[in-house]
Amino acid sequence: MTIQFLTISQLSDLLKNKKISYEELVDETFLLIKKYSSINSFITLNQKQALIDAKKLNVSNDQNSLTGIPIAQKDLFCTKGLKTTCGSKMLSNFVPPYDATVVSNLNSAGTICIGKTNMDEFAMGSSNETSFYGNVHNPWKEGFVPGGSSGGSAAAVAAGLVPAATGTDTGGSIRQPAALCGLTGIKPTYGRVSRWGMIAFASSLDQGGPICRNAEDCALLLDAMSGYDEKDTTSLKIDPTKINNNINEPLEHLNIGIVREFKQSDLSVDSQQLFSNTIKEFENLGAKISEISLPNIVQSVPTYYVVAPAECSSNLSRYDGVKYGYRSSNADDLESLYVNSRSEGFGEEVKRRILMGTYVLSSGYYDAYYKKAQQVRRLIKNDFGNAFKEVDVILTPTSPSQAFEFGSKGKKDPTELYLEDLYTISANLAGLPALSMPNGFINGLPVGVQLIGNYLDEEKILKLGHYFQKETDHHLKKPNLEGFA
Ligand code: GLN
Repeated sequence: MTIQFLTISQLSDLLKNKKISYEELVDETFLLIKKYSSINSFITLNQKQALIDAKKLNVSNDQNSLTGIPIAQKDLFCTKGLKTTCGSKMLSNFVPPYDATVVSNLNSAGTICIGKTNMDEFAMGSSNETSFYGNVHNPWKEGFVPGGSSGGSAAAVAAGLVPAATGTDTGGSIRQPAALCGLTGIKPTYGRVSRWGMIAFASSLDQGGPICRNAEDCALLLDAMSGYDEKDTTSLKIDPTKINNNINEPLEHLNIGIVREFKQSDLSVDSQQLFSNTIKEFENLGAKISEISLPNIVQSVPTYYVVAPAECSSNLSRYDGVKYGYRSSNADDLESLYVNSRSEGFGEEVKRRILMGTYVLSSGYYDAYYKKAQQVRRLIKNDFGNAFKEVDVILTPTSPSQAFEFGSKGKKDPTELYLEDLYTISANLAGLPALSMPNGFINGLPVGVQLIGNYLDEEKILKLGHYFQKETDHHLKKPNLEGFA
């Protein structure tokens, strides 16, 4: 029996009916990971401990939906005793002494941590080409990007090596790789999932969430990941979501908004056609479609590229070669220890962000850039507030393009890559929940569509996603992995 490409629910049924044991499932998972290692989706494997954890499950007999399910963790969630690199040389020797809350929540739900997935360095990127550990291949096409920054997580799930993985999303890093790899992923409302032990990039935007094969599995995983955490001061004082139990309840009188300011001409002719088809599919499901206006949304990308680098320059100042992480051996005083450790430990994109961030926060430019960006951020948030008076959910494409060839974008002009997040960034600036799911294929490569919900409306967008997936089969397609084996 092959476990490849099975969903959490399917694997859970196999375990419940004793068609496979916990250990066999773990063994099979590692065989698959090794067979397809050329995809490069993992940085560190947790094989020994995973088997120990699987054995432990044999003695306890309360089997819930997540018991024994193999999960891959993005390599920026701290895992006790297991290397956590954040895709960087800077943390290539970092072994955390504790688990992130997301990790401990998933462990307590009975999942088994299989390993740590490759990612853009410090989660900065849209193509997984900035990792110190090399490019990740998109399982749908060798030599093509899986999207970023949670590219390793998306590739591992798309190749069917694990049924689910965690990701983080600061400007699109769950949704964009999910779209480029034909998967479903959700960025929850800011504060829904604890950021404790999640290595910080831009603290007011970062949010963890699941990447799975469908919306139902995302609900299951979000239910286990979410919930108030006193260790994170921005954590919302609310209970974990309980969406999976009522995911099949009907959705009535649903109003879906299409954003006037996102011009169809920003998309290729094929993508426009696909997006129009998806609108029709939602109409056929009984949704009412109307146009809404988000007047300031066109400013999202420039606003993000002031706010995110500013926060990143502050967060990454802790990597100084003194406390932990990479330390240069070429230093002969404190100053050169700082300079050389940071110069040798960080990659080019991270340095670019730190420089931009330091610049926009400097006394002469703070008002002109950082303060202004925060003001525009407020306007974008207000625009969503007005739109959600008219509609329940907002529908947009997830990404302006499909997976592209390694090295083909952003080499001369980094802003080319920054624009990959045109549709996703605004949800982070406003702190709103947003889901991406597959809505078709162009030239054999997956395309994704995004559902943005109002605050704490994860249930609505997951139910709508699930409803769409019951009626369509885009999410059931699998890549041909011959070239990778
Ligand atoms: N692509 C965006 C960036 O490079 C978003 C990354 C993310 O969501 N972590 O900043």
